[in-house]
Formats: sequence, C-alpha cells, structure tokens
Amino acid sequence: MRSKKRIFTRLITALIVLIAAAMLFIILDKPSPSDNLDDIATPPPTEQVTSTPTPIPTPMPSPEPIIYINSTVTEIPVIVEDGICYLAAVPMLEKLGVAVFWNAAEQTLATNSKRGELALHRANTTIVALDKMEIGGVNTSITIDGTIYLPLNIAAILGGTDIAAARGNAVHLEKADTGYATDTIQRVMEQIPLLENYNPLNFPQYIEYAEANPETDANLVVLYVNIGVHKEHYSDIQTIENPHDVFAVLDKNHRVPDDFEPEVVLHNGAWWIEEVGLAWDEMKAAAARDGVSLTLNRAYRSIADQRNNYNSKVNSGRSVAEVDKGNSRPGHSEHHTGYAADISPINGEPNTPSYVWLAKHAHEYGFIISFTAEKRFITGYIPEPWHIRWFPQWAADIMHSENLTIPEFDNLYLNPAKHGYAIDHVHALAVVGG
Ligand SMILES: [Zn+2]
Repeated sequence: MRSKKRIFTRLITALIVLIAAAMLFIILDKPSPSDNLDDIATPPPTEQVTSTPTPIPTPMPSPEPIIYINSTVTEIPVIVEDGICYLAAVPMLEKLGVAVFWNAAEQTLATNSKRGELALHRANTTIVALDKMEIGGVNTSITIDGTIYLPLNIAAILGGTDIAAARGNAVHLEKADTGYATDTIQRVMEQIPLLENYNPLNFPQYIEYAEANPETDANLVVLYVNIGVHKEHYSDIQTIENPHDVFAVLDKNHRVPDDFEPEVVLHNGAWWIEEVGLAWDEMKAAAARDGVSLTLNRAYRSIADQRNNYNSKVNSGRSVAEVDKGNSRPGHSEHHTGYAADISPINGEPNTPSYVWLAKHAHEYGFIISFTAEKRFITGYIPEPWHIRWFPQWAADIMHSENLTIPEFDNLYLNPAKHGYAIDHVHALAVVGG
C-alpha cells in the first residue's frame, strides 16, 4: 500500500510539474511581432488546459501606442519591443508624404525629403545616412515578414520629421517640411507621379537639369537624367555587361568590351544575328510588294573595322566633333551587336521612297530607326534614316508607338533601376503639397 501511495504521489507531483511547466511556457512565449496592427492588439490564443482549474494568465500586450501625424491620429502598424517603439517604414513614410524606395537586393530604404535631402537606411542595422553623410542611428531596425519597422530615431531621419517622440502612450510625428526648399524642387516633387525609374540618388541631377530646362516635364527630367542626356559625350564611358543582349544599350557613354564578338552568321551576303537576317528577308519582300526596293548596305561591323573607319575620317582632316556627329567611336556602334543594319543609299535624302517606307513599316518587322532628328539631343547623332536595329516585336511596337529611343525604352520598360540606384520595387509615392 505504501509503495502504491508513493507511486501515486510521484505521479501527481510529476503531473503538477508538467502543468506548471506548460503554464510557464505559455507565459514566457511572447506573441510574435507582426506587421498587422490588429494582430499586435489581440493577445495570442491561449491553450485550454482542462486538467487544472487555475486560470491561465495571458501575457499583457504592450500598451498599443497611438500615432499622431501633425496632431491627427493615423493608423500605422507599430510594434513595441523592450520599450522601443518601431513603426512600419513604408506606410509611415507614405503618410508623411515622402517618396520612398525599397531595394530588396540591397535591403536599403531611400527617401527624398521636400528639402531635397537624400536619406538612406540599411535594414536591420543602425546605419543611416543623410545626403550621403553617415549619421547612424541608436536602435537597429527590424524586419518581420518582409516589412521593415524603424525605431523612432531612424523613422524621424527617413521621414524628415522634426519631432518623433513618444509621450506616454502616444507617438507624435510632424511633417518637418512646411514648404519646398526651392521652386524647382517643388516642381519636380509635385510632378513626379508613380515613376518606377525615379532614382533618389539622382535627385541633385534632377534639380540641376530641371533648373536648366524649365520647360521640361519632371517625368522627362527623371528619364533624361537617368539615361545620361545631361552628360558630355564620351565623358563617362562605361563598358556594358550584357553585350550579347538584344536590348544592349550602346551610346556615346556605353560601349561593348574590346574583345566582344556577337554570334553572327552569313545570311544573304551579310553578317548578322540570324533572326535579324530572316526579319530583313520578310521586310524586303513586303517593301517590294509595295513597289519599294530596299538594298542592304551593311549589317555587322567589327570593332577593328569601326576603328579604321573612324580614324580614317578623323585623319582626313575633319574635326573629331564633326566626325562624332555621324560616326560611332569604336566599341560604341550598334553594328557591333549584329542587330543593326544600314540601308542604301546612305547619306542620301531622308525622303527617298525606301526611307519613307522604312519610317512607316520597319517596326512591323521588328526594326527601329535608331537615330532621328527629333531625338538627336538624346542620341548625339545626326538623323540616320538608313540605320535600323532589330528588336523582338513587342519591344519594337512600344518603341515605335511611343516614339522612344533605345535608351529611353530601356530605362522606362526594361530595368528602370539600371541607370542608377537599383530600385527593384517602388512601394509608393505620395507627395503632399507644401
Ligand atoms: Zn549604321
């Protein structure tokens, strides 16, 4: 009997210990932070332990702060951990009227304030820079389910707020900027709609370009600066990383590597990418049906040939500036890609029947006229109605219907981020008037 009773007592003790452990576990198991305000406010569900009548204490959620923006209660997801208040970055910045860009690859947030300041923050660090000067934060930001939460001090810097203070159970944010720093900044900031190619790092150049070109719409200011219209020709030459890409952009500041050789084939007497040769066949036949004769002059041209060609023109006594107007420097010619072709008669009247036909129909076969009079300020080349370049049909259709040069198309449609800050996602842009 005694041993049975002892066993029974031990069993009861073990059960009590188990229940106690379970209770302790539930108490200590803090609610996991979430980006959803409702989830934060609601205590986590507690498991029903039926074997004990003792009520299970539920963990007290931290008092949920009330967020004020300019004294108005505003709903922004918030987390309180260890007494530190964290605000969901993107909703907060949107509500402050700040353009905000999130680069997932670099885990970086970038903002431009109405003063034109650039603020950068790397997620999950204390690193903050204002106008590229690192100023540092006090607390580390945290990422939960892909949402970045900023501690108040970092939130204040990125939001350009004068005050980001927690008083009691309230957090007060105030829009720091009562107005735009300059009329030009106002013009740019008010005119940029949701532009995926807007690059916070280029902001000073946007302002400079907008001041120099007061008639240009801000979306075009952004586009032109991104593609380098403001740069001197051959002043900032970069070797492109994707020379085989059908969309490779070659211009006065972008060239293929010296050892680049495209996969061209001999087709109907010319060297080109095979697809381009086949498209040419179709186009030539279609033109013939319209009574127009298209004669191919040249397609692929090697870098060495281009060098000889360019040098002979310079050596013939013409100035470099003059030669540059109608000739690419070696490495910069679209003919290096195998996707471009020249149609005879070169240097002829732009209104020859073949050029008129091309301007109207070339895009139907994927060909775009690269250098037009209208876009000379972008390309830097005199109009060349004979020079065509092939693209996949969908791209040629867009370039033709929207009258875009290749760099413009690239910046607007392919990789808005490529020409500067690698923005792979634009969360939102809300510019609130001053
Ligand atoms: Zn050409």
